[in-house]
Amino acid sequence: MQVAVFSTKSYDRDFLLRASSDTEIRYDFFEERLTARTVVLARDFPAVCCFVNDELNAEVIAAIAANGTKMIALRCAGFNNCDLPAAAAQKVKVARVPAYSPYAVAEHTVGLILTLNRKFHKAYNRVREGNFALHGMLGFDLHGRTVGVIGTGKIGQIAASILKGFGCRILAYDVQQNPECVANGVEYVELDQIFAESDILTLHCPLLPATKHLINAQSIDKLKPGVMLINTSRGALVDTKAAIEGLKSGQIGYFGLDVYEEEAELFFEDRSELVIQDDVFSRLLTFPNVLITGHQGFFTRNALEAISQVTTDNLQQFLQGAKLTNEVHAG
Ligand code: NAD
Repeated sequence: MQVAVFSTKSYDRDFLLRASSDTEIRYDFFEERLTARTVVLARDFPAVCCFVNDELNAEVIAAIAANGTKMIALRCAGFNNCDLPAAAAQKVKVARVPAYSPYAVAEHTVGLILTLNRKFHKAYNRVREGNFALHGMLGFDLHGRTVGVIGTGKIGQIAASILKGFGCRILAYDVQQNPECVANGVEYVELDQIFAESDILTLHCPLLPATKHLINAQSIDKLKPGVMLINTSRGALVDTKAAIEGLKSGQIGYFGLDVYEEEAELFFEDRSELVIQDDVFSRLLTFPNVLITGHQGFFTRNALEAISQVTTDNLQQFLQGAKLTNEVHAG
């Protein structure tokens, strides 16, 4: 079965080819993102394979369905970029990779916390320039700090467990308690208590209508002054303009992000020769207490192997007419 792979990078090609070598899946790689403009590339492919910034809206899904596509294999966990009711209406199946390496994202989260706190990025440059002064490097002990974890699924649970290992007190909010977190001493509380008591607030819930701009002007007002805010989940959980106001007033003391609301036009490409047109993102870059990584939380060898394997398995199940273990349904 021929599968059109969108938003391909060399590492996607390497790992997907390796995972599919002994199967009937034949990947055809396109560097383009899947959008209404590029949908023509998917013509006659029974399946497409997409990533986080491919635009699987109703228009694109109708177009791929009209062109003969019957399966969307998401090579990611989140599916907020896919209009599931539209896919159901067009009888296009959608499968994802529900878990690949939650450790990858949880460990990256802790990396952002440590770097913002202990300024490794500044120290790296300073020492290489022969500057051994310590001013501007003052951090704090993580031990004894209160960390708020919003969303205690696979990634949030591991982030909580690592931070517990540092000696942090962990407060959590989720629509559903995770018994492993409870057993590990995580305290489930209401959102307002998390906002009021957390020294560090880290987001691990999915992007849904209910969680869009969870961190907004009103919630930022409720935060502990000088809080460290970390978002490795999805950009639109945070109202970035409100976060900028929070950074300017000092209400937010540090902001670490691996995801950004408008990242689709920015991330995953070398734009170092170009002028960034996104003024909100550019403003973020001016703050000394903001650390941005370009959606690399998932980017470990272990995670890429698992993503490629599960994506290929999902496509094999579809080809064989088997039940799709990792199907995502509307509603
Ligand atoms: P998961 O499904 O295991 O956990 C999500 C948790 O969020 C669940 O426990 C769920 O009950 C909870 N939740 C749902 N609605 C909520 C709400 N309104 N308020 C609070 N909690 C709510 O998912 P996961 O594997 O832990 O991934 C979490 C998120 O991380 C994904 O949705 C994805 O957006 C993001 N992610 C980012 C990267 C990256 O590279 N940065 C990689 C993978 C996943």
